[in-house]
This record gives sequence, structure tokens and C-alpha cells, in this order.
Amino acid sequence: MRLKFYSLIVMLSLNGVAAFGQTPNNYEWCGTKGITPWFDYYRQNREAIAAERGEGDTAWLYVPVTVQITGTDSGAGYYPLEQAIQSICQMNEHFEQARIKYYLMPGDPVRYLNSSYWHDHEWDGGADLIESNRIPNRLNTFIVADPAGNCGYSWYDAIVMSKSCSGYGNRTWAHEAGHHLSLPHPFVGWEGFDWDYSQPAPEDIDGHLVEKADSSNSYIAGDYFRDTRADYLNYRWNCNSNSESTVVQHDPNDVAFRSDGTLIMGYSYDECGAVFTPEQITAMRDNLQDTNPWGHSEYLQVTEAGAEIDDDAVVQLAMPIDSQAVQFNDFTLHWEPVPNATLYAVEVFLFSNLTPRLFYQTVYNTTSVTVTKSIPNNRTLYWRVRAYSEWDLCQPAGVQQVGVFKTKNFSATNDLESAVLAELSPNPVAAGMPAKLLLTSDENMEAALTITDASGRQCQRQTVNLSFGENIVEISTESLQAGLYTLSLQNEKGTILKRLAVTQ
Ligand SMILES: [Zn+2]
Repeated sequence: MRLKFYSLIVMLSLNGVAAFGQTPNNYEWCGTKGITPWFDYYRQNREAIAAERGEGDTAWLYVPVTVQITGTDSGAGYYPLEQAIQSICQMNEHFEQARIKYYLMPGDPVRYLNSSYWHDHEWDGGADLIESNRIPNRLNTFIVADPAGNCGYSWYDAIVMSKSCSGYGNRTWAHEAGHHLSLPHPFVGWEGFDWDYSQPAPEDIDGHLVEKADSSNSYIAGDYFRDTRADYLNYRWNCNSNSESTVVQHDPNDVAFRSDGTLIMGYSYDECGAVFTPEQITAMRDNLQDTNPWGHSEYLQVTEAGAEIDDDAVVQLAMPIDSQAVQFNDFTLHWEPVPNATLYAVEVFLFSNLTPRLFYQTVYNTTSVTVTKSIPNNRTLYWRVRAYSEWDLCQPAGVQQVGVFKTKNFSATNDLESAVLAELSPNPVAAGMPAKLLLTSDENMEAALTITDASGRQCQRQTVNLSFGENIVEISTESLQAGLYTLSLQNEKGTILKRLAVTQ
């Protein structure tokens, strides 16, 4: 079946027909254009398909998703899994009207791909990404840094999203999933077509009939739906207070009209609305239930939704809590499992109002995470965990427990080192320019700061009074020759040594 699909694409492209497989236009919001082979078959057989389906097609349809997040060759630049989860939550809100629900494939919710070629791609890189990584029987969703200059596209039986057009409050995922389930743009045929909208529209564009303002030809023109009004706007547009385009267009009979801004499949801004029309919903549901090639009945593997997490569930934090001290650059956070939860989003914050976020990670099928990246020493920090599952991807409503812990340097060789974190910059420093010694202290104290040269001769000495928190001591190099010096901070608790290089 898949081979047939690709060969049809090749055939269509060779014939020069406006198609799905054609390279989409580079500077559009959505990189998808034209009519899919399935939709072309569907629109010509709509009545027969409706007769076969009969009345009462109201069951929920469940579509499994695996999210594949790309990074660079060295594994940098991943889109946060937590935000991918929020994107699917948002997509489910948009698809509720169609009684279609997306869930993450149990056991295989997310994969990470390290390839700069895929992460920031042109069309050949996108085709390679999809063909190399497509998994059968689910909606393949790729999140990359740059999908050929677009916000997203639906192509080769996958959807590819950009990091910047994902997340909650964004309509792009629902838009591309709509394409995936066969829907064209309401302005199909106009993609990339340069036009002065004050003029009457042509009867057709490259043989594709233009939809009239009175919808009289809607089943043979435009997007072939009657309940999506005529729309020619092929760029992102703002709407008026009626959720219609501010731009007035003119149909081939010079009848003036405005586009409907509520349509997810149009190019209006996200805040104009989020509607699939009844005819669009019927087409998507028929596509999902169709066993013919390019139908997606293989997605329908379950007929009932999986278990959700209790709305009032709270993640119980196990360790560290109650201001317990941990090694600042290597510690593990533990929590208790929540019934039905498989995904946990862990966050560490600097302040008790949960800002700024110093660390976050979403983990799967585990109830601990080890943090080894740079977290400040000698600080009181705050953390929380939120629970999700493959079937329950929306933000938990309940208030979550916040844990408190302290960071220490247990490997320090004396008490002063464990109480004070010293950072010297710039280093090396040019002679005559001041260096700055940043001392982060967890108590008020006095200490002697001395500078000695390579032969052990003392060059400077001063007393510094440290307060709780950050202290900056300016080190003058006016009287220092180029060379290597030792800074020593000392009191009854112990000694901290720093090396300073002074250059010409
Ligand atoms: Zn589109």
C-alpha cells in the first residue's frame, strides 16, 4: 500500500498535476498545498460513501501519535516534551467538535532524533526525515527547528511542525492534522498565487474552478465544501469583530465578500476562531474510517479511551523536601507514582513564586530524575512535578505540592568552601583592567583577601565583609605586572584559593 502511495505521488508529479507530493511554496505559513489523492477520490464519491456509512456516525475515534523531536547532530535544540504534550492537549480541544481524540502511543510516546540535516531542513531534508523515521499505524508528528521555512506542513503521510509554532494557544497542529485527514485549505488553488484582491477573481486557476461568493458552485470548485465559504486569502490575515477578513474579495462575477476567520483550515490568525465545519468533520471521519489506500483506518486500534488521571491527583514529593541539602551539581529528585500516570514534568525554580525555572525535564515511566547541569550552589530552591499519561495530556487543574531543598558543595575541602562560592572573571584579565570576584555566601562573615605573585610575595591585602547572598569584590590590577597570581580568601572557617592570570 505504501509503495503504491509513493508511486502515485511520482506519477502525479510527472503529470504536473497540482498535488500533495509537489514541493510546497517556501514562504507560506503552512507548507501544504493542493488536493490529496484521497480527497480527490472522496469528493467524487461523497454520496456513495455517505450511503454506505449510513446515519449515526457519532462514535469517538481515537488516533495514536508518536512525537519525534529532532535536535542537532550533537543533540542540542530539542523542543521540550512538556510543550509537545500541551500542543496535543490543544489539538484535542480543537478536534473535540469532530469527536476525534489524539493520544500518545502507549510504550512509544516520544523519540529523539539527532540530525542537523533534519532539524533545520529544506524539502529534500524533510522528505528524508519522514521516509527514514515514519512508523506505521499512527500519526507521525515531527517537531523540528525549521521545516523548510514554514510553521508546519503535512506531507508524505506525516505532519512536521516547527518549534516556534507549537505549544498551547496555537492552531497550527490542528491545521496540519486537518490536512493529514485529507482537508485542503478553503482557499485551495490560490496557494502562492499572486493576486490583486480588489479585482474580480478569475473563473479558474490552472484549471481549478474558483468558488463563488454565493456558494453556487461549491461542490465543483474551491475546497469542494459548501459550508466553508469562498476564501482566496493565501497569507496570514487579521479578522474584524465578526471574525471575518478585513480584506474584501471579489468573486468571478464581481460579487464582494469577506472570508470566514473561524476556520482552522484557513490562514486567519489563531485568535479569530477554531472551527471545523460539519462537512469538513464528515470528510475527516470518513478518511479515518476508510480502508482504501490513503484512508487511515489502520489508526483506529482502540474503541474506548484509556484511563485518565484523577483530576484532583497531587504528586507526592519524596526527596528532597523540608530544606534537605543536596550536592548542587549532582542530585536526584524522587516522587511517589500517581495512579495511571506515566509521564512526569519536573521543574526546579529559584524562588518560591515558581520563577525563574532553572531546570525542567519530562520523563517517562520513572519516578525520579537526576540533575547534573548547572544549578546554583548555596541556594534554597523549589521544585514540583506534574503528572500526565498517554491518554491524559492536558494540564492538571489541581494545585501541586512544592518541595524545598538547599544546594551545597559537599566535596568542598573546608567549611569556607562549602559556605561561599567564588567565581573570578574575566580571567585572564588585561593589566590595568579590574577583575571581579563574585562571592555567593550563605551567611554574613568577615574574611581576609590577599593576592600573591608567582614567587610568593604578597601584592595586596584587604578585609572583605560578606553578606548573605551575592557579593562583588573588585580586584584592581593597576599595580600588577603580567603574570600568574594567587587570590586567597581566608578566615577561621578555612581558605578558598583562586588563580588569576594578568596579561599585557
Ligand atoms: Zn495548511
